[in-house]
Amino acid sequence: MTLDSKIPKGPIKDKWTTYKDKINLVNPANKRLIDVIIVGTGLAGGSASATLAELGYNVKAFCFQDSPRRAHSIAAQGGINAAKNYQGDGDSTYRLFYDTVKGGDYRSREANVHRLAEVSVNIIDQCVAQGVPFARDYGGLLDNRSFGGVLVSRTFYAKGQTGQQLLLGAYSAMNRQIGRGKIKMYNRHEMLDVVIVDGKARGIIARNLVTGEIERHSAHAVVLGTGGYGNAFYLSTYAMGSNVTAAWKAHKRGAFFANPCFTQIHPTCIPVSGDHQSKLTLMSESLRNDGRIWVPGKLEDAKAIQQGKLKPTEIKEEDRDYFLERRYPAFGNLVPRDVASRAAKERCDAGFGVNATGEAVYLDFAAAIQRYGKEQAHVKGLDENDAALVTRLGKEIIKGKYGNLFQMYEKIIDQNPYETPMMIYPAVHYTMGGIWVDYNLMTTVPGLYCIGEANFSDHGANRLGASALMQGLADGYFVLPYTIGDYLADDIRTGPIPIDSKEFDEAENNVKDRLDKLISNKGKYSVDHFHKKLGKIMWNKCGMSRNAKDLKEAITEIAELRKEFWKDVKVPGKADEYNEELAKAGRVADFLELGELFAKDALHREESCGGHFREEHQTEEGEAKRRKEFQYVAAWEYKGEPKDAVLHKEELKYEDIEVKERSYK
Ligand SMILES: Cc1cc2nc3c(=O)[nH]c(=O)nc-3n(C[C@H](O)[C@H](O)[C@H](O)COP(=O)(O)OP(=O)(O)OC[C@H]3O[C@@H](n4cnc5c(N)ncnc54)[C@H](O)[C@@H]3O)c2cc1C
Repeated sequence: MTLDSKIPKGPIKDKWTTYKDKINLVNPANKRLIDVIIVGTGLAGGSASATLAELGYNVKAFCFQDSPRRAHSIAAQGGINAAKNYQGDGDSTYRLFYDTVKGGDYRSREANVHRLAEVSVNIIDQCVAQGVPFARDYGGLLDNRSFGGVLVSRTFYAKGQTGQQLLLGAYSAMNRQIGRGKIKMYNRHEMLDVVIVDGKARGIIARNLVTGEIERHSAHAVVLGTGGYGNAFYLSTYAMGSNVTAAWKAHKRGAFFANPCFTQIHPTCIPVSGDHQSKLTLMSESLRNDGRIWVPGKLEDAKAIQQGKLKPTEIKEEDRDYFLERRYPAFGNLVPRDVASRAAKERCDAGFGVNATGEAVYLDFAAAIQRYGKEQAHVKGLDENDAALVTRLGKEIIKGKYGNLFQMYEKIIDQNPYETPMMIYPAVHYTMGGIWVDYNLMTTVPGLYCIGEANFSDHGANRLGASALMQGLADGYFVLPYTIGDYLADDIRTGPIPIDSKEFDEAENNVKDRLDKLISNKGKYSVDHFHKKLGKIMWNKCGMSRNAKDLKEAITEIAELRKEFWKDVKVPGKADEYNEELAKAGRVADFLELGELFAKDALHREESCGGHFREEHQTEEGEAKRRKEFQYVAAWEYKGEPKDAVLHKEELKYEDIEVKERSYK
């Protein structure tokens, strides 16, 4: 099979507009004859559900939480990008397009990224119209801040709770349609298979998580907005329930999985504290607007800190190493995440880490507090030399900007970050890999679409901060509602899809067999036992830096662990009842397959790019070294076992952006 990305012809800035002008449409009366299943009601699935229902389609929406409001999207803190140029600082559609392609280390599809930059501006208008309370400046205009990898301020935000506010907007729009009967909402339902009839996605098999009942649902098209798979690493910043199951089932039914090894390891997270931890906490990238990242410049100071004999505030300014500012003067603390994470790891590996395990660096707000404090004193006509006053005024400004994040840090670490620098370390945060989709967001299975973080996305090998929300909402509000119509225009005479076909029988039996197998296994070890082991392999051998030897070992170890899992996993309870452990077991079983494909993909990609750092391919300065031969999307076709997956390549052509060295100096 040849991959056809279906990129429209013509100049990049006209592609989307011309395409929309010529696309097939479904008339409003006919939309009422068409059913669409949307699995996932985070920002991507929620916005798609609301919009498709508003257009007139009959939507059936599914999520495994008790409400769409609890999707992982709610955790998003820092903000959402849009090329509005409200700051007049030189932003434009082209610049957002350029920054995103460069930020992704030239491994994303130009046409999609340009479209994303174009519709970014509509997203903000849409959300404001819904009542999303974006931060505003003194004059009442929408405010912006900066995120990594860019030299402008284009990030719209609602304190440190942007995801929550955007999700409430999408959820309200959904609720309107639920009220009208245009969306039928299936909370606490988990999709466990896709049903393919005559080569087209025509339905899903879902388990009612409350009763354990297995249900059949049909539609003319199926959309997956089921989020990312970073929890394959066990410890991550993801919500505990985030998983790969829906995407993996789709993969097994013919959807190619693209760039599975492209994972984002976010530089500013609260460091791991011990072996009994199940969750890591993000400290938003927005903090890098004002926080300066450093470690002690002298090894003896670092050792003294690690042993608890010295405090960071006792280290003199000249004895501190602001390593990002030193290495990347142009972007400083706002280099992209992959670059910042690797730089922190490099310092910690060299012995300069600042906590007991040596795996932490400082994020320090002291300078910002003084800067803001002096400005405030000046504005208020007060004494700028009154140190206590300046510090108090500065803290108030920092509190206004990041108060909830500071409070969260203090609750977890029991240190006051207004007084002493935060300790941070990189953690798994986002997956750029996912289900391969063409320009229409359709997978390699006709009628099966994938949106938001679950698809292989527009972010290439590294996602810039505040771009996930932009992509999820672009897909759901502005892209899919057009492109899906082009496909559904052929289905206006099809009529409802029956659920009593042999294809539904086969898929349902498949799901039931697997659940029975898990329940009747009666092994010795809990699901978490295997998940933790998988996470350790993933982090140690497929993590922030990778090499061929480790990756080969990871492939063998994961395959071995999968065998052990099926031999020895213990799932208490029954399948036909509420059983959280059973749901978790199914998800971990899928992670154990995905993990192997992940390592296989990382092994085959003999280059460093973005979040994928191969030790064999680095510059003399230790920076990632890209290779022209790998300028493609690796899309894997399922062939029975992860080791047998077949590679298909989508060559990436850069016609509007010159592929250059990715420098942030
Ligand atoms: C702590 C944190 C902070 C972040 N901050 C930002 C930020 O400031 N800016 C930014 O741009 N990005 C941020 N991100 C990333 C961003 O939040 C996510 O990438 C984005 O919200 C993903 O949205 P989504 O709709 O694709 O998936 P999700 O929000 O993960 O939603 C997935 C949906 O799929 C459903 N689902 C999954 N599997 C199944 C199944 N088998 N059956 C039924 N339903 C299923 C779930 O119930 C859920 O409704 C942050 C991420 C984290 C972890």
